[in-house]
Amino acid sequence: PGTERPQGRVVDDEEGGVLFLSGSHHSSSSRHGYASMEKQRQRLPVFKYRTAILYLVETHATTIIVGETGSGKTTQIPQYLKEAGWAAGGRLIACTQPRRLAVQAVASRVAEEMGVKLGEEVGYTIRFEDVTKPDVTVLKFLTDGVLLREMMDDPLLTKYSVIMVDEAHERSISTDILLGLLKKIQRRRPELRLIISSATIEAKSMSDFFQMRKKRREPENKDHGPQVEPAILSVEGRGFNVQINYAEEPVQDYVQAAVSTTLLIHQREPVGDVLVFLTGQDDIDAAVQLLTDEVQTTGKHSSGLIVLPLYSGLPRADQELVFSPAPRGKRKVVISTNIAETSLTLEGIVYVVDSGFSKQRFYNPISDIENLVVAPISRASARQRTGRAGRVRPGKCYRLYTEEYFLNHMPNEGIPEIQRSNMVSCVIQLKALGIDNILGFDWPASPSAEAMIRALEVLYSLGVLDDDAKLTSPTGFQVAEIPLDPMVSKMMIASSQLGCSEEIITIAAVLSVQSIWISGRGIQKESDEAKLRFAAAEGDHVTFLNVYKGFHQSGKSSQWCHKNFVNYHAMRKVLEVREQLKRIAKRIGLVLKSCESDMELVRKAVTAGFFANACHLEAYSHDGMYKTLRGSQEVYIHPSSVLFRVNPKWVIYHSLVSTDRQYMRNVITIDPSCLLDAAPHFYKLQQSNHLLY
Ligand code: ADP
Ligand code: MG
Repeated sequence: PGTERPQGRVVDDEEGGVLFLSGSHHSSSSRHGYASMEKQRQRLPVFKYRTAILYLVETHATTIIVGETGSGKTTQIPQYLKEAGWAAGGRLIACTQPRRLAVQAVASRVAEEMGVKLGEEVGYTIRFEDVTKPDVTVLKFLTDGVLLREMMDDPLLTKYSVIMVDEAHERSISTDILLGLLKKIQRRRPELRLIISSATIEAKSMSDFFQMRKKRREPENKDHGPQVEPAILSVEGRGFNVQINYAEEPVQDYVQAAVSTTLLIHQREPVGDVLVFLTGQDDIDAAVQLLTDEVQTTGKHSSGLIVLPLYSGLPRADQELVFSPAPRGKRKVVISTNIAETSLTLEGIVYVVDSGFSKQRFYNPISDIENLVVAPISRASARQRTGRAGRVRPGKCYRLYTEEYFLNHMPNEGIPEIQRSNMVSCVIQLKALGIDNILGFDWPASPSAEAMIRALEVLYSLGVLDDDAKLTSPTGFQVAEIPLDPMVSKMMIASSQLGCSEEIITIAAVLSVQSIWISGRGIQKESDEAKLRFAAAEGDHVTFLNVYKGFHQSGKSSQWCHKNFVNYHAMRKVLEVREQLKRIAKRIGLVLKSCESDMELVRKAVTAGFFANACHLEAYSHDGMYKTLRGSQEVYIHPSSVLFRVNPKWVIYHSLVSTDRQYMRNVITIDPSCLLDAAPHFYKLQQSNHLLY
């Protein structure tokens, strides 16, 4: 009825031939729901391969599984492993994801499928949030970054029997480091099983990477150990045809184009949900607003539309809305970052609108600048996006770029993140794991030598590495222990010495959430005015302290937040992160102390961590142009900063965003003489002359 069944791919219950063992602990009242859940599970393409997967994992050290998004890799394979006994005897099964939101969503789905409470048998860990229970949790979902951190305490990851590195095709920087390290661990712990799974992988190159050269002296153990040769399994998907429509001419404004395309789909096409790929919170919020306005003003075309954003940092309740089916007669429109490209599967999508862009990290070792840039996606990504439309029945994909562009100009594959990132965090983590020869490390894709050298230089000037490129004690080890960017960690350590750690920890917590302000079209004026109430002459960092204080004094009230255009959800997160950072600070021996109102100390601590991001205002600039001290790059203060249009002479920024220009986000004024104190090696003589003019 209306929906076609894919030919011959659906596994009927009797075909599967594998009994599910769990479920005995369910009350009879939940039995019905459970049974249908079980049916759903058995209908997933991966179910046909259950026995094969378990066999391969049993017999091979590494199993590479390739399967289309939605085939059940992430949610099913960890459950199969558990059912097959890989979690027996107090061992854990891990499944990593590059994205935090995916970790949460997938863990909660699996808990639901297993009929258990999230945080018990099935748990998850992301930075600053641990929803697991010791001795109870057996399936653990976590970000690849968190697993890397766990290696600092347990270098061989001894509590895990199987580690599934999921979404390997994303080639996130942490995934690549993890793969390099897991390969090392496997040599020491042959009983550890790895599963590398991905939607599209050059399975061969991964397999080559895990091909362990057999040592001549050690003949392969035929009787016991697993085969060292990686196994490759391809799970056949069950996608339907998707009709692709291209833009006839290049699109000027992809947000506007995405909105009009969505409205056209809604007017002309039969029922089915729409998934729109934009790049980040800014353009997604803008599109949501435009569509919502449309619904309100010209009601008749657009009634029946439910518009939902999807990006990381979204409150839990909003995340759940995205997964719940639209009410009868309504059409759901989800406007997402590339998280919905392969990490999450939304049911019911029939139409995809692809802007052709995503936010990507780019690093330039010459200027030592890393930022998030809206950049064209690859053809591989475009195909993935298109595929999202063919999950339940034949669908349509609207590409907001021309066919000519797709065929002749779009890059074929993306570049692994490790080759377009600043390597500072990566170097420090490897050093902390005792890997000294970083240039000789066995990477799935090698980072550039320039980026490595830059990282070593920065870490040296931060006092994290010594002349022999070893971690310094205690600073280097302390920095490695704090799960934040090394510059933030250094700022925290400096604040302990300066006596302003309470303030700096608050600032670090605020900087770790996306934004504490509520913004959006239509409320810009009010929110700017609200911001002014907290604005500090020193800049954004001190402004955050004012907001935090106000929030605290209000009794952490959501009304207070609402009134002041402060994001309540973000502030709750700040409180949580702050508590965790305090715990970490105590553990590594930092002194918790408040400097009361001596903001000079706060500025000094920020400078101690972020001296590399110092900029000065160009003397004759009328439009507020700054130059970075190090690379003489042109940068501007971001309009969201309280120092926008104030343009003090010397500033330090927290991060850069690049749109038409490079914008500094979160900016604080500094005293240039502190730069020399903070990093005498970094600002050498020549620059110091320059500093003084
Ligand atoms: P893969 O990892 O191969 O992309 P998943 O295991 O993530 O596939 O998803 C398998 C199926 O599970 C999806 O097709 C979807 O039907 C269902 N599913 C996954 N996550 C959710 C969720 N959060 N809510 C509802 N259904 C979900
Ligand atoms: Mg998956």
